[in-house]
Amino acid sequence: MSFFASAMNRFNDKSTSTSTVTCPQCGSKSKQPSSKISREQAMLCPSCKALFVVHPRG
Ligand SMILES: [Zn+2]
Repeated sequence: MSFFASAMNRFNDKSTSTSTVTCPQCGSKSKQPSSKISREQAMLCPSCKALFVVHPRG
């Protein structure tokens, strides 16, 4: 399986819940997978392309 197909499978996974997060760099809000937040994985801001981590307990 190609990387692209794998990525699309993840993107199309309807079982993944999302949460709205705010970018600390530009303040833009975007929806990110809740699993990433709970694991404190880095997320990419779609507005300014900054990588940031959202901590589930604030
Ligand atoms: Zn941003």
